[in-house]
This record gives sequence, C-alpha cells and structure tokens, in this order.
Amino acid sequence: MFPANKQYDLIIVGAGLSGFAAAVSARENGLTTLVIEKGRSLGGDGNYVEGAMGVDSQLQRAADIRVDKTQLLQDELNYSHYEASAPHLKQFIDHSGETIDWLQGLGIKFSKVGAQGKSWPTIHTFEGGGHAAVQALIDQATTHGTEIVTSLSAQRVLMTDGHVSGLVVKSEATGQQRDLSTSAVLLATGGYVDNPDLIKQRTPFSNRLLSVSDGKSTGDGMQLAWQAGAAHYQMGAIQYGGGAIYDRINPPFVHMASQVAAAATQEAILWVNERGERFINEDVNDNMCHAGGAILTQSRVYSILDQAAVDHLTDVGLYKEVGNSPVSPDKFDQLKDELTDKLAAGAKYLTKADSLDALARQLHLADLPATVAHYNQLVAAGVDSDFGKAAAYLTPVTTGPFYAVELGVGMACALGGLRVDHQNAVLNDHGYPVSGLFAAGNDAAGMLVGDTYAVTLPGSTAGYAVYSGRNAVASLLTKQAVTN
Ligand SMILES: Cc1cc2nc3c(=O)[nH]c(=O)nc-3n(C[C@H](O)[C@H](O)[C@H](O)COP(=O)(O)OP(=O)(O)OC[C@H]3O[C@@H](n4cnc5c(N)ncnc54)[C@H](O)[C@@H]3O)c2cc1C
Repeated sequence: MFPANKQYDLIIVGAGLSGFAAAVSARENGLTTLVIEKGRSLGGDGNYVEGAMGVDSQLQRAADIRVDKTQLLQDELNYSHYEASAPHLKQFIDHSGETIDWLQGLGIKFSKVGAQGKSWPTIHTFEGGGHAAVQALIDQATTHGTEIVTSLSAQRVLMTDGHVSGLVVKSEATGQQRDLSTSAVLLATGGYVDNPDLIKQRTPFSNRLLSVSDGKSTGDGMQLAWQAGAAHYQMGAIQYGGGAIYDRINPPFVHMASQVAAAATQEAILWVNERGERFINEDVNDNMCHAGGAILTQSRVYSILDQAAVDHLTDVGLYKEVGNSPVSPDKFDQLKDELTDKLAAGAKYLTKADSLDALARQLHLADLPATVAHYNQLVAAGVDSDFGKAAAYLTPVTTGPFYAVELGVGMACALGGLRVDHQNAVLNDHGYPVSGLFAAGNDAAGMLVGDTYAVTLPGSTAGYAVYSGRNAVASLLTKQAVTN
C-alpha cells in the first residue's frame, strides 16, 4: 500500500524508537508527517531496549542521584579517545534529562534509575521494556493523525537545486516504486548492524560476530545519505554485547534467556583460546564491549566450567554480578537440565568431558591442562599475576566433569558512517548540511563514540534515539520559521 498523500512536510524513514520520537514531536508541532517502515511490524530494535540514558531527570533528582556533567563529558571523551564529537555529546548530555521527562510526560513509566555494572547512574529502565515505551509513542503518533505505512522502504532521496525535494519509495509487497514529495527527510533506519559488508569495513573479525538485532538494521540510512551527497564519516562503534554462545546453526536470540549462556558469559571463571591458553582477566566482562573486543583477539574462545562451578551456580548463585545482561538469575535453577538437554541434542558449541585431558583432546586445546594447573596456582595464591583479575573472582577449576562453551560476540547495534551537526542535519564533505536531510538514532549516533561503544553511559543509544528524533524536528521547525 502506498501513502494517501503525495506531499509531506516531513517523511521519517524508519518506524523505530527515534522515528517515533520524531513523529510525536512533529505532530505536536502540526507538521504533515509520514512514517515509512520497510518491515511489517513497528518499533524496530526499540522493542528490545531495556532503558534510556538521562542526566538530571526528574527521576534522578527524586532519587538524589547527582551527575557532574562536565566530568561525565570528560570521561566519555577520554573513553572515545576524543573521536566523539565534544559539542554533539555535550548537547545530548545537557538535554538528556529533559528527554526522559518528556517521555514521562507522555505516560511512559520507568521502573528504576541508576548504574549498570561499573557505569554512570544514567539508565532509566522502562517499565514493560522498550516494547511498552515504543507502543506508547506509536499510540501518541496515531492518535494525533500521523500517517504510518509499513512494508514500504526508502530507496532514494530526491534532490532539486541542492535541496531535498522528495523520496523514492518501494512497496516490499509488490516491488512497485513511487515518488513522494517532501522538503525534509529524516533518516531513522537503525544503523548497520545487520549489514555484513559494512560490519566488515569496521572490523576484520566479523565471522564470529552475532547480531541480536531484529535483522532490519542494514545501513539503509547511511547509503541513502551518501547517495544524496553526505560525507562518509568514521564507521564508529559496534555495541558488542560481550560473549555470546557461538552457535553455528541457530540464531543468537534463541540463547538470550539461556542459563548456559549466562554461566559461560556472565561468570568470570576461565576463558581460553584455540590453544587452550588463558588470554585475559575474565572480569573484563564488567564492560561488555571490552569483553567482546578481547574475545575477538583470539581465533576461538571457550569458557571453561567445572562441576563445582555448575553446582555453585545452581545452589548459591552468581559468583559475580555483571549487571549488564538480561540474564542474571539469582540461582541457576535450569542450568543442569539445560546442560543435559543441549548435550543430548548434540549442540556443537558445548563439550563435556570427565577430565581436562579428555576435554583438551576433543577440542584440540593442547595447552588446556597446563593452563588450568597454572591458573589454579594463581587462585591458591589469591593473586592473578598474569592478567590482574580481581581476587574475589579467582575460582579454581578442579572438579570433573568439565564443560567448554564456545563463545562468539553478540552485537546489538552499529553506529557511525554519517556526520551530523547540532541540528541533526546530515553534513556533506565540506561540513555543510545536505539541505533538508536529517538523521537520528543509530544512523547519527556515531557522533557520540570512538571505536568502542560507551557502556560506561548506559542507555545512551536509546536516550539519543529519542533526543535526536526530537532535535531534528525542532531544527526543521526553526528552519521553517526562518524561511517564512
Ligand atoms: C537486543 C537489544 C537490546 C538493546 N538494548 C538497549 C538498551 O537497553 N539501551 C540502549 O540505549 N540501547 C539498546 N539497544 C540499541 C537500540 O538499537 C537503540 O537504542 C534504538 O532502538 C535505536 O533506535 P533507532 O530508531 O535508531 O533504530 P530502530 O529502533 O531499530 O528503528 C529503525 C527502523 O528503521 C527501519 N528501516 C530500516 N531501513 C529502512 C528503510 N530503507 N525504509 C524504511 N524503514 C527502514 C527498520 O526496519 C526499523 O524498524 C538495544 C538493541 C538490541 C538489539
């Protein structure tokens, strides 16, 4: 189905978190707005979001949570090796609290606010998850008359005399194309985590990267913008979700709630590489992006658990609460059953053996027995003199049977490729706007990061999606007011 009208003040490409934040703002301000979505369902990866970042929100003030914005900016610039845009990041931080307040004002509820692992206390957790938040935005947009068309993808931005004049769209059902007329297009397509070629441009280790997105973030926004004359900006960061079960058969989401996955990735017991050598302080998993980076430095990675660890997890619970995973069960009540079932089903990522020698033989991990013997000496001494893992997480590996879980790296989103200004206007090679073209959400969030996603600022992509969608609309209104 094609849209009812052919002329719009604003066409928003992508019906996810940033697209709907923009749509609600646009309708609040009386713009004739069309939202197009290439998939059949709405909400994009916004549906899976846990929470959004904000500084100095009403909720934080009520909880007496104070954040020094200048220190936060400095920390994040350092973390990004100064590849983040300082003015853009500052503007986002400064407006992030009022962005949360705006969501609250729309009736969106938050269950808690605080830190996630070792981070700034910025994540506002959505009550009912991202799905509830996105649905509230969809309800707001539709109640106020925003036109939304699904199974319709943006193909090309039309330019006339250097200004956006329209958009070519394609029906995903029939393949038919149509030109729509508009003076402004907002790209809100969710970044490029599902585009293997673009991911490969960003990192050579792409074969063990597993996208946990909904599969539709294929970098369309960047490619539409580049065609329209936008600069190719740095490819930015991939949000590594730490270790993930490396299953060559089933898609990553089937392991999202798995207790085997939680035991292998949340715990910091013993990780070894393709030779059976230890290569990192496993408590690096406090920062899931750093953990992902470390895992990718090796050809293969296995998380090793002994029966004592399985028993401890089952009877007592986690040795180490990472706090940034959807799976942090207090007690691993399903762990033993899951191990039995998966082994019975012949899962290739899971290996069990009665002795370390047998495990090493099965997986060709020649150095594993020696590695474990040495590691147990470090545990007995209480000091990881190899890599500096905290003493509290030095757990011995002694009691058979032994399990090895092969790890890849999950990735939730990929940011970068476009440069935008204060107004979320997309910039060309000379640093000036491609007139009428805006980008929000993951399509623009490369401005906030260097080569590593800012886990230290939890909720930042969701917070930015909402902030930047609204900011682009505010900029469009300002430009219109100046023109009129
Ligand atoms: C499992 C998971 C958990 C996450 N948790 C968090 C979290 O807790 N906090 C956080 O900050 N971030 C989180 N993220 C990151 C999340 O991606 C973003 O915060 C947020 O969804 C980005 O909004 P967006 O509008 O840019 O993209 P999306 O919400 O993904 O929306 C993009 C939409 O554009 C559509 N689209 C793409 N191309 C086209 C085209 N050519 N034409 C028309 N439509 C198109 C897509 O189909 C999609 O519906 C998570 C991501 C995942 C996958």
